[in-house]
Amino acid sequence: MKEITKTRFTTGFTCVRATIYALTRKSKKASQEMKYISDNGQRVHELARKYFDGSVMVTGRTNAARQNNTIRYINAGKEYICEAAFMSDNLFAAVDILHVLPNKHVEVYEVKSATKVEDNFYLDLAFQVYVLEHCGYTVDAAYIMIINSEFIKHGDIDPKKFFIIEDAFDEVKELQEDVDDSVGGIRSVLSGEKKLDETPVFGKYCFKPNECPYWDECKKGIPEDSVFEIKKMSIDKKIGYYYDGVRTMKDLLGIKDLTARFEQQARLQVEKSNKTEVKMNLLMLFLSKLVFPITSLDFETIFDALPLFDGTKPYSHQVTQYSVHVLEEKGGILHHFDYLAEPKGDWRIPLAHELVKVVPEEGSIIVWNDEMESNRLMELADLPGNEDIRNKLLSIKHRIVDLMDIFLKRIVYNRFMEGSYSVKHVLPAFYPDREDLRYDGMPINNGMLATITFSKLLRGEITGDEAATARKNLLTYCELDTYGPFAILDALFHLSNPKSAPLYKRTTG
Ligand code: SF4
Repeated sequence: MKEITKTRFTTGFTCVRATIYALTRKSKKASQEMKYISDNGQRVHELARKYFDGSVMVTGRTNAARQNNTIRYINAGKEYICEAAFMSDNLFAAVDILHVLPNKHVEVYEVKSATKVEDNFYLDLAFQVYVLEHCGYTVDAAYIMIINSEFIKHGDIDPKKFFIIEDAFDEVKELQEDVDDSVGGIRSVLSGEKKLDETPVFGKYCFKPNECPYWDECKKGIPEDSVFEIKKMSIDKKIGYYYDGVRTMKDLLGIKDLTARFEQQARLQVEKSNKTEVKMNLLMLFLSKLVFPITSLDFETIFDALPLFDGTKPYSHQVTQYSVHVLEEKGGILHHFDYLAEPKGDWRIPLAHELVKVVPEEGSIIVWNDEMESNRLMELADLPGNEDIRNKLLSIKHRIVDLMDIFLKRIVYNRFMEGSYSVKHVLPAFYPDREDLRYDGMPINNGMLATITFSKLLRGEITGDEAATARKNLLTYCELDTYGPFAILDALFHLSNPKSAPLYKRTTG
């Protein structure tokens, strides 16, 4: 039997089923996103260890070996022990930083690569304290170390300035009874004394703080087109509807005063309708405001917990590449330009200087979700070294038109968008058969994977031919992020006037 670790315990604190599944089933492969988060977390943990002078690090191939090594360090009089491991009656806890005091008294520090304390952090600590006390230690204090969001890098990162330490002892003490109840509940199912409910009982905990890894399994009993498929509806509302007997989109259509966007998604799905609903006056207004030359722009970024450049904060986005498509006139040739930074030095200044060379000085700039591109352009404009192109960068920002608005505001919608307004849903909804407009099957097919790939290049984790292929894949992915919006724009012009000629002719380079 696997040990009940902190992660397995917290996964199922509110749902015993989740912990039982975690203990008895094969673990799912961690998603790329989780891997990036955990790599970032690893770097934050390494820095946190430097906060405590003379700290030692526990290693070991098995949990039992780690526990033995912890005891050795305690007996050797070490004051700060990182990854200190403890086991009691199949409960296993690794403490990020243990402060050893005389007479089996200790203090615990939990390191989080977050900038705010979240409720579930207390539970992590509460479990560790529970295990430590069952191992015969007295815990005198419990702290959470989080990242100081106001930290600005200047040279080497000083851990004393990078971290904020929050006292969490009161919250952790209060949770001890709940931890005890939960551990008891898990044990009684494991021993066979109690059985799991035949049908899973859904709650907010299935989705928050993250979607439960067993959701795919638990949802098997849910009917097709369930309320859980409705996009952008709050979890509380979905759970409420579900347990009030409103289980499917069809049931939902019987609800009075249903929000228009939910009604639209449910109605078109229930009717299995293939029609595209258009608010024609708003679409025409949007299209009439576009000014040629039209440029489609997209950035990819990296956002490490530990700031990369002097003058930047934790998790600040740094542009790593761009793609630009330019159409000078209606029916003209679509030109493509791109740039992918060499991952060394401060690449932001050459990147910005190349950008202003390829983006026309007038005309509309179309983006998908303007917040990202607008903010990055402002940051690039304010960067020392970019003074000579500041006005050009700000001009690009001021000419931005957000194409996503058309779908966010449901000016245009069909059921193949599945309630979403992301380009990855909208594009195939217009062009289901166009292979060149599909993200599926691309080696890099989302922004997070692009970030992870650049992070690997930056850290030399991929080199040689592998690095060359990764760079090519990054460019291909970003290109679709600016070509796709042009294809969508063409479809919108066609919706506004079915006789309109194609918006562009495609070429590359
Ligand atoms: S999906 Fe929900 S009910 Fe199923 S195991 Fe996870 S938390 Fe429990």
